[in-house]
Formats: sequence, C-alpha cells, structure tokens
Amino acid sequence: MKLKRAKKVIAGLLAAMAAAVVLGAVWANPVFAAAAVILLLVLISYSFSQWRCPHCGEYLGWVGKGIQLCPFCHERLDQEA
Ligand SMILES: [Zn+2]
Repeated sequence: MKLKRAKKVIAGLLAAMAAAVVLGAVWANPVFAAAAVILLLVLISYSFSQWRCPHCGEYLGWVGKGIQLCPFCHERLDQEA
C-alpha cells in the first residue's frame, strides 16, 4: 500500500473533477457535468479502497488528509508498513 501515491491520485482526481465542474458551468455542457459525477464516484471508491492506514488498514476518512498519526493504531502515516 502506497499512501503517498494514493494521496497524489486523490489530488489528481479532485483537480480533474474541479476542472470538469468549471468547464460544465462555463460551457453549460451536460457532458462535463456527467464527467464530474463519474469522477466523484471514482474518487469516493478509490478513497475508500486506498486511503487507509498502511499499518492497521483502517479507513482514514476525509479528516485524515493532514494528520501525522493514525487515529486507530497511532502509528506514523508517513512511514509505510
Ligand atoms: Zn492505523
């Protein structure tokens, strides 16, 4: 499990989703709105499967982005298991 890579993928998906939302709003194009919804679903499913503590495997949640220690096992999140 690579938490750093997961963080980058999640950030990339968020950026792509934001771009789709902006483009959909600017051009009033339902294709971009649909793309934004799909990206959101991908983001949620990827987050649930990959955004987990590398030590105990617990889901870190949306508040876990800035924390250093796992709230479940209190291991450091920047050190891969
Ligand atoms: Zn943990």
